[in-house]
Amino acid sequence: MNSTNSKHRILLLLPTRTYRAGAFLKAARQLGIEVVVGSNQAQTLSRYLPAKSLTLNFHKPEQATQKIVEFARKYPFDAVVGVDDDSVLLAAMASAALSLPHNSIESVIATRNKYRMREILARAGVPSPDFWLFSLEDPPADLAQKVTFPCVVKPVSLSASQGVIRADDEKQFVQAFYRLASILENPEVRDRLGTAARQVLVEGFISGPEFALEGLLIRGKLKVLALFDKPDPLEGPFFEETLYITPSRFPTSVQEAIATCTAQAAEALGLKEGPVHAELRYNHRGPWIIEIAARSIGGLCSRTLRFGTGLSLEELILRHAIGLEVESFDRERPAAGVMMLPIPHAGILRAVHGKESAAQVEGIEEIVISIPLEQEVQPLPEGSKYLGFIFAHGESPAFVEEALREAYRRLEIVIIPQKY
Ligand code: ADP
Repeated sequence: MNSTNSKHRILLLLPTRTYRAGAFLKAARQLGIEVVVGSNQAQTLSRYLPAKSLTLNFHKPEQATQKIVEFARKYPFDAVVGVDDDSVLLAAMASAALSLPHNSIESVIATRNKYRMREILARAGVPSPDFWLFSLEDPPADLAQKVTFPCVVKPVSLSASQGVIRADDEKQFVQAFYRLASILENPEVRDRLGTAARQVLVEGFISGPEFALEGLLIRGKLKVLALFDKPDPLEGPFFEETLYITPSRFPTSVQEAIATCTAQAAEALGLKEGPVHAELRYNHRGPWIIEIAARSIGGLCSRTLRFGTGLSLEELILRHAIGLEVESFDRERPAAGVMMLPIPHAGILRAVHGKESAAQVEGIEEIVISIPLEQEVQPLPEGSKYLGFIFAHGESPAFVEEALREAYRRLEIVIIPQKY
């Protein structure tokens, strides 16, 4: 608890492009926690409420940490919470500078760099694909001789599957390489990634169904909060997330192996406190970590989860961050799921018809279109945004899956070609 008053105060790091602001702010309100918002854009009211917000450059975390430390002299924090990939590193650096409990800076750096993560996991014997790091300067036709197929070509530090492309042969490899190169040459991406924008990671393709594990680390111990099946096969060439359904319908032995593998990965990376979100595949050789991040689930997907007597995922994360007990980690009983709406092709989003009809499907809770109409949309691998989300719950995972599929069938997404 901070020394100036009895109310907890946290610094919530909310990059302007995050989907996670609403859920975290609501959770803080529910818990009666005072929030200072740290964002990369000045808040409209910041001039009048200087104790409520801080403008921070997330791409310059040393400088931003300095600013946070100065601010904290006057308004001390009980925790600094990063809500997504863009803010977790600064949260770790600021927490270290303020001696607040948090993951180490090195562990968070490793989760933000897929090559570093692969190196650490492989060294620790956590099941990992073969991997190769290349430079954008290298001629891809030569590189194609060094890798094995099928493989996945990916950036070292983007998210939401942006730039992740499967290649089954040399020709596809060269095409994938140039396609990723053009994504990495985008000035905004180059700015955000720095030297990582000149690197290309290639991994062996891991077959098998994919899962997402949502967990919380408490003093190094992993508490599994939810395991999601991803019932749509992810075979590539691009890896669009669609359905997430929990609880998993796989045997307990598979679920346990996935949890153990995630705990091993977290330990190998040195992650100890706070949320983790891991993506894994499972095949005849067991579970494989595709990725583990030191943050909670992305987009608006956390709306599928409630714990104990109705706590949101964000309330649970914030309670843990300020050192309060979490009474129950049990997910509320009914099955739940989300469908992330794919962007079928590039253009201008003109309309989404059929929302009312889709909302009437039994089990559907909410349909959110998260891209404003008349805005440009881009599918994978270039795009990085979700068109929207459908949420459902019901008595069984199969019921939830069918409800989401039926609601999606009822939507008509109108995207018109962009005029040049
Ligand atoms: P991001 O952080 O952008 O989500 P990931 O590395 O997690 O990138 O890859 C996105 C998706 O691509 C994964 O969820 C998975 O479906 C697929 N993928 C990535 N790497 C592999 C791999 N080595 N084998 C199989 N599928 C992969």
